[in-house]
Amino acid sequence: MKTHCAHFDVLVIGAGPAGLAAAHSAAASGLQIGIVDDNPLAGGQIWRGGPQHSGDARAGRLWSALRRAPNVQFLLQTRVLYPCGPNALRVETPDSSATLRYERLVLATGARERLLPFPGWTLAGVTGAGGLQALVKGGWPVAGKRVLVAGSGPLLLAVAATLQERGANVVAIVEQAPLPRLARFALALLATPTKLKQALQLRSRLKDIPYFSNAYVSAAQGDTRLQRAEVVRGGKRTLLDCDVLACGYGLMPNLELASALGCATEHGAVAVDRWQQTSRPAIFCAGEGTGIGGVDLALAEGSIAGHTAAGALAQAAQHSAERAHWQAFAARLAKAFVLRPELRRLCDEQTIVCRCEDVSHGELLQHRSWRSAKLHTRCGMGPCQGRICGGATAILYGWSQDAVRLPLSPARISSIVNGASQPTAVN
Ligand SMILES: Cc1cc2nc3c(=O)[nH]c(=O)nc-3n(C[C@H](O)[C@H](O)[C@H](O)COP(=O)(O)OP(=O)(O)OC[C@H]3O[C@@H](n4cnc5c(N)ncnc54)[C@H](O)[C@@H]3O)c2cc1C
Repeated sequence: MKTHCAHFDVLVIGAGPAGLAAAHSAAASGLQIGIVDDNPLAGGQIWRGGPQHSGDARAGRLWSALRRAPNVQFLLQTRVLYPCGPNALRVETPDSSATLRYERLVLATGARERLLPFPGWTLAGVTGAGGLQALVKGGWPVAGKRVLVAGSGPLLLAVAATLQERGANVVAIVEQAPLPRLARFALALLATPTKLKQALQLRSRLKDIPYFSNAYVSAAQGDTRLQRAEVVRGGKRTLLDCDVLACGYGLMPNLELASALGCATEHGAVAVDRWQQTSRPAIFCAGEGTGIGGVDLALAEGSIAGHTAAGALAQAAQHSAERAHWQAFAARLAKAFVLRPELRRLCDEQTIVCRCEDVSHGELLQHRSWRSAKLHTRCGMGPCQGRICGGATAILYGWSQDAVRLPLSPARISSIVNGASQPTAVN
């Protein structure tokens, strides 16, 4: 790892839209800024492939300004493993490890897809919707494959568009939200003309693909791999032949690092004040970590967090109205795509819920809490550390994850034993 400086005035974790905006705002102060991301390229989920190649002009502008700034250092392919003492984080790269120290920290660690289990969801050929999009953007070939896109939220349209562009035959888009709610959401897009334009463009590109609202996948079927999906539509079951089923039920914030640092959470997101300050001194959070709201909200929050971390409150306050505008959009989004109760009842006793440890729905029904299930079944104790089944058990059984385990992701032993300090979770 070429770490020219392991001590930063402002250290930003996550190089998605929120992190890039935070680093850009903080850099204006002349302070030393570090920006860490575990991917080989900056850009986060939406500008995957590098902000310089995105069609969004804001991505290119941020990228070129940050690349030119002499006081900004990018640390890519660098994964945060754990906090190790006051104002210090242990990180790992593909071939080394280091301790990064900071005066102020901005968490911009984004979100991940929510996956819900249903019979057959572990068959080869079944993926998350955003997961498939990421694979395809990374070069996975889908040309000529029949793909069913299902789940909930506007991401389904973006995924279908990416798949269509890469030559897939998108069989249908299956959205669980009912039409009246979707219509209200569409009408309210008049308040956000850029989103309205995006939605109209997407709908026109996807006009030949059947769009089923008020519908959901109840099972995936096939012998050794997926052959068809069972879809419930208006109460009736239909079978749709497909090679790939891409199914995701919206997004959920990545809370692990914030929780390890002792930041309070509220309604499944990091709690922040109007300056994007968390409950911990000198730690800020921006973007999807504070709640799901899309790229525009992530950029506004990132700008506020970056300016505040650099002590420029007047500049931070200039982004308040923009943030409020996109927070209102986020609230409408959450209301429109709230999950229907039927999705909690899809699993049969044999359906695997924790894929890492092969724990079934039947086994989990014997428990009343996440902790009890973990202790008795190893649910959530495999390599993903509950990142997939944690979101599912929250919906299926109303459980909340009560602790974060360090390191945050599987790590080399040498990255831990070579660290000056051992993991310290703040509670
Ligand atoms: C799978 C997926 C696909 C999406 N596709 C689209 C789309 O096509 N169109 C659209 O409008 N929106 C899409 N979104 C939503 C979009 O990501 C957000 O609206 C926006 O990008 C959020 O920006 P962010 O900066 O908050 O987070 P992100 O863009 O998610 O960036 C967070 C970054 O932090 C990094 N990170 C997290 N933890 C660590 C750690 N411990 N160490 C180091 N780095 C870390 C992550 O790798 C990531 O690069 C997608 C979301 C997901 C989850």
